[in-house]
Amino acid sequence: HAAKADRLGFVVYRPELDAGAPEKLALFGDLRRAIRDGDLLVHYQPKVRVEDGRVVGVEALVRWDHPDRGMVPPALFVPVAEQTGLIRPLTDAVLDRALADCATWRRQGLDLTVAVNLSARSLLDLSLPERVAASLRTHALPSSCLELEITESAAMKDPGRALEILHRLRALGVHLSVDDYGTGHASLAYLTRLPVGTLKIDRSFVQTMELDSSDRVIVRSTIDLAHGLGLRVVAEGVETRATWAELAQLGCDEAQGFWLARPGPGETIPAGVTELERRLASSGIPPGGRTRAA
Ligand code: C2E
Ligand code: MG
Ligand code: MG
Ligand code: MG
Repeated sequence: HAAKADRLGFVVYRPELDAGAPEKLALFGDLRRAIRDGDLLVHYQPKVRVEDGRVVGVEALVRWDHPDRGMVPPALFVPVAEQTGLIRPLTDAVLDRALADCATWRRQGLDLTVAVNLSARSLLDLSLPERVAASLRTHALPSSCLELEITESAAMKDPGRALEILHRLRALGVHLSVDDYGTGHASLAYLTRLPVGTLKIDRSFVQTMELDSSDRVIVRSTIDLAHGLGLRVVAEGVETRATWAELAQLGCDEAQGFWLARPGPGETIPAGVTELERRLASSGIPPGGRTRAA
């Protein structure tokens, strides 16, 4: 695997790693190896259209089953990749795996979009649009199969450059979403300039909307704001049946969360989708949801 090693060879030393982080340094070496050897996994979580309970897509979530540590959460190793130059090969690996799995589902007759998360560095990487286009070509998929999730805070690191890259991605026909909406600090003025089609409401508001009236207000106004701007809106972190029912009442477009489905390996998706759609169809929610409220 000399070629692969060479490709990663630019990752030698970053002083950031010394900032009191021997832990990170150890993770870095293992992570570099895991990416090189193709050991990272990708799990998928269904996104459900609230109106009719159909699964319309999945979100790709990277997983690392470390030989000694077991499952390391992405919240721990994605930042390490981000600080060390490993984020480009990580993003490429997830993108490639996600598009390969998406192509497999399509061959099985399952028409799902797949969403891949972009970290700040990937979003500001001028080579990204061409890499995305190349990966779509490799898997012979139309760009409409792919969605990329970005965060406001990532875009704000270099708003002009982020805007340029997002426009190039959009020109390819890839769908763009703002993830964790409500936790960043982009101005609404900047947000409306982004060529995105979807806002994903951060799960910290959704998880507690049944208990906390201010969270409910935030969710409701975000749905209205998104619709007013002509954007679709996804609620993440739907953990209860009550939340799902409430989102149907509020006219939320799509939902994701443990109550609907937990992330799982690609092979489990076709059966998981059938089972979830069946469960929702018999749950009586939405009870004519949007149509009745309208
Ligand atoms: P995210 O993009 O906001 O992804 C949603 C996270 O919420 C996932 O955690 C998912 O497992 C979790 N989740 C989904 N439904 C529920 C729920 O009902 N309740 C709760 N408590 N959690 C729920 P995960 O997989 O640990 O990922 C965490 C974050 O790591 C992601 O947040 C994303 O920012 C980042 N990440 C994951 N995969 C990738 C990747 O391939 N590349 C990059 N750059 N970042 C990634
Ligand atoms: Mg996401
Ligand atoms: Mg999110
Ligand atoms: Mg999040």
